[in-house]
Amino acid sequence: MQSPWEAPDFDDHEVVHFVTDAKSGLKAIIAVHSTHLGPGAGGVRFWHYQQSGDALADALRLSRGMSYKNAMAGLPLGGGKAVILADDARTKSPEMLAAYGRAVERLGGSYVTAEDVGVSVADLVAVSKVTKYVSGLPVAEGAVGGDPGPHTSYGVYLGVKAAVKRKLGRDSLDGLHIAIQGAGSVAGGLARLAAKDGARISVADIDQARAEKLAAEVGGTVVSTDAILTLEADVLAPCALGAILTEQSIAALNVPIVAGGANNQLATPEDGDRVQARGILYAPDYVINAGGIINVASEYLGDADQAGVQARIEKIPGRLDSIWDESETTGRNPAAVADAMAQRLIGRA
Ligand code: NAD
Repeated sequence: MQSPWEAPDFDDHEVVHFVTDAKSGLKAIIAVHSTHLGPGAGGVRFWHYQQSGDALADALRLSRGMSYKNAMAGLPLGGGKAVILADDARTKSPEMLAAYGRAVERLGGSYVTAEDVGVSVADLVAVSKVTKYVSGLPVAEGAVGGDPGPHTSYGVYLGVKAAVKRKLGRDSLDGLHIAIQGAGSVAGGLARLAAKDGARISVADIDQARAEKLAAEVGGTVVSTDAILTLEADVLAPCALGAILTEQSIAALNVPIVAGGANNQLATPEDGDRVQARGILYAPDYVINAGGIINVASEYLGDADQAGVQARIEKIPGRLDSIWDESETTGRNPAAVADAMAQRLIGRA
């Protein structure tokens, strides 16, 4: 049997905890990739994995991603991620969330948990009853914290503007055409900000009603989910799923810029080279979409007010510029440059 050290996604993770609580049925993996810059921070995912090996792969891959993301966001946090293994018999219960919270507490702050797929704010409130190492909790009006979505949108909007300035030499989005994949939280915020600047928005969502509502709000146009990836536009902003940039989809892109909020947009590392080879400027996803984690981290660390959070998010364009500068100098694609920069920041160059 393969051990975690031989797992393809193992990347010298500092610690990987396998948590079992027979009474509540909890089975979880908490992976801490790096604490070089601070406690390993990242959300907990509740997911029905086909095999437990898939859960381990997810925890290893996602926790490394959090190390990179937190480092590139300039946060004093390392990278960690937890997954809770669901199945038909193991459904989420208050007892299970409490057992998970106790496991996080036992780690003494080396891992800080937050929301991810399948875990709600209400779940985290339950977890917070047994551990203080949790963020993304409801906060009072005006306080730092709460829904990270609008902060992610703001950072993505600033990143899109930086890409437009660099690639098209334009200071404003006025008159530009932005194709947005997705009409959810991040996409909606981006569409509203870009439309306010005078951009023309095309939007696609598998939830047609959602796309129509957003298009009506911003005076945009709904296109099909197939058409959005080949639309002729100034910017494609993927704000829905991961792995949408594949050999096939990249060949059909009709934009000079890809800059959006979705996580893990490149299906494989080679796709970073493919985007570059087509002369398309790419904004590495975990750099441009860090606004949400910046807000969550500032809530947890209690070290900034709303203006401070905004100032941190406003550093995203500068980070993108330094990535693009290095990409131009070295010839490496921006995603590879971002990974190398993150590795340097966490002492793993
Ligand atoms: P959301 O659930 O609010 O919106 C996602 C939307 O994408 C939904 O409306 C869904 O119907 C749509 N969608 C799914 N498959 C699609 C497809 N094939 N074509 C078109 N639309 C499709 O989620 P969100 O919070 O807006 O997150 C969007 C992306 O941004 C995700 O990849 C997420 O991981 C990433 N992200 C979000 C945040 C945040 O703060 N919310 C932070 C960082 C990264």
